[in-house]
Amino acid sequence: MTTQAERRATTTFDSDYVSTINGRPATSVTTAPAFNPATGEVIAQVPVMSKDQLDEAVAAARAAFPGWAATPIEERKRIVSAIGDRLEEHAEEFMALLTREQGKPRAGAEWEVFGSVAWFREIAKQSLPDETLLDSAERSAVTRYTPVGVVGAIVPWNFPILLAVWKIAPALVAGCTIVVKPSPFTPLCDLKLVELVQDLVPPGVLSAVAGDDDLGKWMTSHPDINKIAFTGSTDTGRHVMSSAAGTLKRLTLELGGNDPAIVLPDVDPTKVAPQLFWAAFQNNAQFCNAAKRLYIHEDVYDAVRDALVDYAKTIKVGNGADADTGLGPIQNEPQFKKVREFFADSHAQGHTFALGGEVDTEGAGWFVPVTLVDNPPEDSRLVVEEPFGPILPLLKWTDEDDVIARANDTIYGLGASVWGKDLDALQRIARKIDAGTVWLNEVHQYTPYQVFGGHKQSGIGTENSLHGLAEYTNWQSITLNKDPEAV
Ligand code: NAD
Repeated sequence: MTTQAERRATTTFDSDYVSTINGRPATSVTTAPAFNPATGEVIAQVPVMSKDQLDEAVAAARAAFPGWAATPIEERKRIVSAIGDRLEEHAEEFMALLTREQGKPRAGAEWEVFGSVAWFREIAKQSLPDETLLDSAERSAVTRYTPVGVVGAIVPWNFPILLAVWKIAPALVAGCTIVVKPSPFTPLCDLKLVELVQDLVPPGVLSAVAGDDDLGKWMTSHPDINKIAFTGSTDTGRHVMSSAAGTLKRLTLELGGNDPAIVLPDVDPTKVAPQLFWAAFQNNAQFCNAAKRLYIHEDVYDAVRDALVDYAKTIKVGNGADADTGLGPIQNEPQFKKVREFFADSHAQGHTFALGGEVDTEGAGWFVPVTLVDNPPEDSRLVVEEPFGPILPLLKWTDEDDVIARANDTIYGLGASVWGKDLDALQRIARKIDAGTVWLNEVHQYTPYQVFGGHKQSGIGTENSLHGLAEYTNWQSITLNKDPEAV
């Protein structure tokens, strides 16, 4: 049998993608192709694990749990930080692979890979020590945070590394063991990461199983998984929640969003336009927190729209592997079809396109042009739903209360941003927005110390910060009557 050290020495980032179960590489009878979305080419075959193999991974995680939970937290933190170091050592290979499998250009790959390194290191500084509530001569009362047990992590395809790390790091620090299921569309980086760090953790503590959506269903109903940490769409989140109900699993659900960006009348259109552009189109708009509705005050509407069009024309859409590419392709074919439905609907409704509007389906790769739709009706599909692709509605507003009501008129409540020089107005509006994060004159600022989660149907629970870490624990109260005569 191949040892971990031998595999580390011989594994490449070009082929040879395996699941990891109980510290060992695991292959499967069935495989599925992984594609480069910029070319449509098959770049690898990925194992599709069976139900039995998932059971094996969960059993190994269960067996490893007592030992890992009993490992001193300082040692667990050291290991989590060392996993970050290992990722950093291979940063170049991971960035190239991320571009190849996900499509994002170099800048986005750097942000994701080095962000993940930072997350491992910073989450490794967090802990939840016992809290002494009372310690008198007569009684004591302590709140403890005990690890929930075996975690199943289910990851989407837009930020495949980072959103896995947001689960792996706190789970391991908290003393949980974890089985990671990457998205079937972007399994390669996650499989490599888990494989490459096996010598740092005891067998079974950190496993990865690749497979299709069935694997997700088996995980959410699995009797021996205690918690599901899920990032994905709101629709799938509903399935996860109902499937997890059978075993009353702990759940963190990070789901879809339809973030409004509100632009006040006092902005400088040319200064704000590039920032609004990236608020909406970062990661080719395949971003839960992308600005998906741009509410621009009527006084500056035309100027901001025109500045956005001018700026958008300077950004090249293309293969992320090319140095001058600003935006890559849509990550997968089903999503490419879904995004095109929004284009078709806007055409059918007679919307005006300020930029773009036509998708070329003939070329290689799943490319969509940056598209700005000029003031479509508020009830259009593009405004109400989450396109998750580079087509953005620009909407006009006049009255502050009205724009706040429109911003909040959605099932989602993930994020929002407000842009303007009047800082009092920014704060006043922010406090009336029903969303997990509101950015003022900036966007997409995250830290391992800042809560991140959705209101309404954008999710349940939170990731990051001590609140996120606490979601990998159960609370336990231990009280003591110190009077020896009491018993
Ligand atoms: P998705 O819901 O289709 O898939 C997410 C994961 O769930 C994948 O690993 C998939 O295999 C798995 N899955 C599918 N069906 C399942 C089932 N029935 N049971 C269990 N698991 C199942 O989402 P996606 O298309 O990969 O990602 C895009 C969505 O994710 C968007 O809606 C986006 O807004 C959201 N998202 C949210 C956040 C956040 O933090 N709130 C971050 C990124 C993406």
